Amino acid sequence: MKEIVILGAGYAGLRAARELRGLPGARITLVNRHAFHYESTELHTVAAGTREPEVISFDIRQSMGPTVEFKQDSVTRIDPEQKKVFLQAGPVPLSYDYLVVALGFESEDFGIDGAREHAMPLVDIDSALAVRQHFEARLAGFKTTRDENDLRLIVCGAGFTSIELLGEFAYRMPSLIELHDLPKDKVQLIALESAPKLLPMFDAHLVDYAVGYLAARGVQIHTSTTIKKVVPGGVMSEDRTFDANTIIWTTGVRGSHVIADSGFVAKRNRVNVEPTLALKDHPEVFFIGDDSAVLDPAGGRPWPTTAQLAIAEATHAAANIKAHIAGKPIADFKFVSKGTVCSLGPSSGIAQLSGRGSMKFEGHGVAFLKKLVENGSLLEEAGFAKMLDNFS
Ligand SMILES: Cc1cc2nc3c(=O)[nH]c(=O)nc-3n(C[C@H](O)[C@H](O)[C@H](O)COP(=O)(O)OP(=O)(O)OC[C@H]3O[C@@H](n4cnc5c(N)ncnc54)[C@H](O)[C@@H]3O)c2cc1C
Repeated sequence: MKEIVILGAGYAGLRAARELRGLPGARITLVNRHAFHYESTELHTVAAGTREPEVISFDIRQSMGPTVEFKQDSVTRIDPEQKKVFLQAGPVPLSYDYLVVALGFESEDFGIDGAREHAMPLVDIDSALAVRQHFEARLAGFKTTRDENDLRLIVCGAGFTSIELLGEFAYRMPSLIELHDLPKDKVQLIALESAPKLLPMFDAHLVDYAVGYLAARGVQIHTSTTIKKVVPGGVMSEDRTFDANTIIWTTGVRGSHVIADSGFVAKRNRVNVEPTLALKDHPEVFFIGDDSAVLDPAGGRPWPTTAQLAIAEATHAAANIKAHIAGKPIADFKFVSKGTVCSLGPSSGIAQLSGRGSMKFEGHGVAFLKKLVENGSLLEEAGFAKMLDNFS
């Protein structure tokens, strides 16, 4: 019996388990710190309060069925020499013949002073709910405090995640202003970005559309503004301080700390894997999703980490494990991106899809495209009813 252990039940881990379940002569064990899977691509909706956590999550055991042994636990360390995985609660380490590491992303603060202490990350359901509760409490408290910083929210970074988050907040603000009877002209949504231009993965006219859409809803985006320090109630750039009592940190992500704690050679906790997605010295260990750095041969740089890439890598790693067990040759990973969709709240967005040529969309209906592209996984793992929930 071959022991196949999969770490993490995000997009990558769940897809790998789904591809491998029922494999004759193999036992599949899936480890995740929560009993539920959440759609990371929708965390901004929970943070802004446009969706509840239940709508973007589902039970892992139920979706996997009896052919996958599910363990709810936190992975602390991997020992590739001993072929063992150490868990926080499990007293006995797990042994494996094949290992798939898919522990996902963590917030990257680039060592900026005060970022970890005074800004809130957006990395999972708990952190998304913490953002929502914190901001809504500040808004509710304004009638007592009269502190205008309670009405200000700063998003650090204006990359893909930040723009989606701002779009969602821009949509939600009118109802929050009405609910708490707030002075509309004093409410501010601010983004600080060191780069001079936004969203380099999109054509310029789509970027202009997104920026115009957000500006029309009161979002101020400060480009070429490098964050130097975060202090309680403020973010300092080279030449000024931006004040706000809610500060969210979405400047980027890195892979799991378990990678560093296990001594794997990695950059920002992303392991450079072979084209097969396995380690050079340990062909039985695969890194996929946000924990791996896979070279895009055309660009000469690793592919940007996305849910779409994570799912494709998982499918490939599973196929290679099956081939290896069967004594067949394993293959190199090839990725063709379907394109990128960036939502601007629940009812708008921009999209640049690949296919025969490049198709570009903007405005109403694009958010639907995102749901369709991203929730391929939701449909397959959780079933049609859950998919319909997600469209509400
Ligand atoms: C707000 C937001 C919007 C995004 N939008 C898009 C988008 O539109 N399109 C797109 O393609 N990508 C998007 N992304 C990026 C995308 O979410 C990630 O690339 C994707 O989630 C990576 O999948 P993964 O399976 O590698 O990791 P994850 O989804 O992070 O899953 C990792 C899993 O491992 C578990 N885990 C972590 N550590 C441990 C541990 N020590 N022990 C046990 N379990 C552990 C986690 O709880 C989680 O279940 C977005 C990200 C964010 C934050």
